[in-house]
Amino acid sequence: MSVIVYTENWDGKFKKLSFELASYATKLAEMLGSEAVALSLGPVGEEELRKLGKYGISRILSMENNSLEPFDPRLYTGAIASAAGRESAGVIIMANNNTGKALAPRLAVRLKAAICPGAIRLPESTAPFVVSKRVFSGNAIARTELKTGVKIITLTQNSFDLVERPVEPRIETIDAGLDGGTSPLRIKEVQKQSGNLLLTDAEIVVSGGRGMKSSENWGPIEELAELLGGATACSRPVSDEGWRPHEEHTGQTGKIIAPNLYFAIGISGATQHLAGISSSKYIVAINNDKDAPVFEAAQYGIVGDASKVLPKLVKALRKAKSE
Ligand SMILES: Cc1cc2nc3c(=O)[nH]c(=O)nc-3n(C[C@H](O)[C@H](O)[C@H](O)COP(=O)(O)OP(=O)(O)OC[C@H]3O[C@@H](n4cnc5c(N)ncnc54)[C@H](O)[C@@H]3O)c2cc1C
Repeated sequence: MSVIVYTENWDGKFKKLSFELASYATKLAEMLGSEAVALSLGPVGEEELRKLGKYGISRILSMENNSLEPFDPRLYTGAIASAAGRESAGVIIMANNNTGKALAPRLAVRLKAAICPGAIRLPESTAPFVVSKRVFSGNAIARTELKTGVKIITLTQNSFDLVERPVEPRIETIDAGLDGGTSPLRIKEVQKQSGNLLLTDAEIVVSGGRGMKSSENWGPIEELAELLGGATACSRPVSDEGWRPHEEHTGQTGKIIAPNLYFAIGISGATQHLAGISSSKYIVAINNDKDAPVFEAAQYGIVGDASKVLPKLVKALRKAKSE
């Protein structure tokens, strides 16, 4: 009864998320006394696949069927289900991102498997099999018992540290089990997210709210993000106003992120906003209202006018970087 981890790739390359999933799967397999097997769908080179070995993955199943392009959850579900059957998988792990959210419920129905969406840590016990996830916009933690033979876990990004355990993986190229099926989906247009760094991948995020007053005041936010090697984000009203692009909006109805450091600047800290960022390791709030709820969520806070505080912060950082 193995642990199968679906390792997403982006144009044939893995990202930190894939290694996080691999680390999690390796640890879980150890708890279960079984093997962690990585599943890779689509064209990924051997050198790239071998990188999973660094995180303890000793066996990799690679499916390179041309029909796996473009991403169609129906075909991917079939491919993952066929790999799970082949391996007699007991647990299937994937990311709790848009891809995982499209695949996991379909797979759960197909395999009659219980699912824990958005797990934040390893199961606290495997018999019974109990996994924790955040609920009520991140304000509470639910312990979910999965009772079915096959179990599915989608892991919240950045909630599990990378664990290096280098092994030399064996790569097996297998049939995707699509039975000649192809996707009826046709891509008409691809809109790439602006900026170099994906918000969901960023270790540091500098985010602005309505307290920034207008789109013209975003210069220092962008500069701070650039100096720190981070990404920019915003609250929902900011993207609704068109001050910033929609893909930057974090929160209950936007992106859910968990960077190491999150700057909330001119953001009140409404529950719906915190739902998307409360898993950040450190939150730094800058707000001119000392009673703003964001200070309750933040580890560090500056009470002050962002238009005065930000330039000083940027100046100090620029100086520190030049020394
Ligand atoms: C169903 C639903 C879903 C929602 N989903 C989301 C979501 O996903 N994400 C989200 O963000 N919101 C969401 N919202 C909206 C949410 O409730 C809040 O209205 C929103 O987060 C407030 O955004 P804000 O903090 O930028 O603005 P405001 O609430 O207007 O707060 C601005 C803050 O800036 C401070 N400020 C003002 N001037 C300055 C200054 N010069 N310097 C420093 N600070 C200053 C103020 O003190 C204030 O705290 C949702 C709402 C609903 C009903």
